[in-house]
Amino acid sequence: MDERQTLLRSIPAADVLLRAPSLEAAARAHGGAAVLGAVRAELDALRASVLHGEARAIPPRPDLCAAALQRLRTGQTMRLRHVVNATGVALHTNLGRAPLADAACTAVQEAASNYTNLEYTLETGARGSRTAAVEELLCVLCGCEAAFVVNNNAAAVLLALAALSRGKGAAVSRGELVEIGDGFRLRDILEESGARVVEVGATNRTHTDDYERAARENDLAVLFKAHTSNFRMVGFTQSVSLRELARIGVRYGLATVADLGGGAPLDEAAYPFSGEPSISRALRDGADIVCFSGDKLLGGPQAGILLGRAELIGRMRLHPLARALRIDKLSLAALEATLRLYCDPARAGNEIPALRMLCTAPETLRARAVYLNKLIEQEGANCATEIISVKRPVGGGCAPSALLDGFAVAVLPAALHVETLEARLRAAAPLPVVARISQGRLLLDTATIRDDECPAVAAAVKAGCVL
Ligand SMILES: *Cc1c(COP(=O)(O)O)cnc(C)c1O
Repeated sequence: MDERQTLLRSIPAADVLLRAPSLEAAARAHGGAAVLGAVRAELDALRASVLHGEARAIPPRPDLCAAALQRLRTGQTMRLRHVVNATGVALHTNLGRAPLADAACTAVQEAASNYTNLEYTLETGARGSRTAAVEELLCVLCGCEAAFVVNNNAAAVLLALAALSRGKGAAVSRGELVEIGDGFRLRDILEESGARVVEVGATNRTHTDDYERAARENDLAVLFKAHTSNFRMVGFTQSVSLRELARIGVRYGLATVADLGGGAPLDEAAYPFSGEPSISRALRDGADIVCFSGDKLLGGPQAGILLGRAELIGRMRLHPLARALRIDKLSLAALEATLRLYCDPARAGNEIPALRMLCTAPETLRARAVYLNKLIEQEGANCATEIISVKRPVGGGCAPSALLDGFAVAVLPAALHVETLEARLRAAAPLPVVARISQGRLLLDTATIRDDECPAVAAAVKAGCVL
């Protein structure tokens, strides 16, 4: 330990490095604050590696300056970067929703750095279908006649309605015309397709009669059902189930389209919450078309997945919008790899990060909180900590009323406001940490922090608590 103290003391101060000509030049080009940030980040990283016993010598000053410049360059070229999600929300839309499984990352890397048979049939040497392989996987996994994939679920909704209902009516319950986030409303997306939105029922109550009357009085083509994914209605409410809706569809010759939002690929029993419609159940309930996101409960890349009757899917595939909304090859590679994991549900549960985070046993989360807390104590951070049990939402507009059990390290800084610590963690280098404040303390929720991120979180807490 003495040796580490000696090493720590021999780390040069930031302002000493800043006087080096190379850094003075960089400050003129990029601004003093940016260079100071890069130098601090480099010294912080060095301090952390000394404390962890990794660095056994302090590099010469020119090397430290060069490393800070490198940090400045990469920091400036990449705005999109790794952050620690300490919120406990597994499907956090602002933090990029689902992180990909290792198998999916490997597939992306392979597709990104090489030519691929994206639209080429190796057997015949002829042009091939971009999406055929994932369509086949989806049909087997979900038990449907046909499948198609596009850029995201909003695109899937747009394409389904454009192909099936352009110039005709699409009946939707007033209780399901949700705003999906960032000001975007389902109703506007439906109308962009060229379909005429026919609102039925009241905000809190919609009956089968409402749909039947709409079907008799309007030139309808579609009965549309949206999962009210991000809010919950309680009290004097009534809605028409997908199964009932599909029956009305059959009676009036209309296509029933179900936007599941998050769509659960596994049986409902596989999830620690209820209320998220399973994909195969929606198909069994009689939906002609089902659509959902690739990066919500599926835990894959951003994508919009359409399943259902072959004739209807065929119309979508041939629609001009299909070309405008097509999925890119990197997402396609990630999607195929993710779907392959689902061929073995146990493997999917272990290897798909979002699914694993949603299903981790509270005991494991508590053990990680103990580990993180120990690291913070070892850092000697100027704060009081406590391990507490917490409730966390699923996120991504899934299961809005479900709260999962978890654990967090609650941090109360000794010398500053908790808001200051929260802001410093967001600015932490090399790894920003996004956490939430509850009842005057900063919570580090271990459901979404990986074991390998814990040392960086502890170092950020230590640095963030300094007066
Ligand atoms: C999330 C969601 C969407 C949008 O899906 P994206 O993949 O983000 O485009 C559409 N409808 C519902 C019901 C949703 O929950």
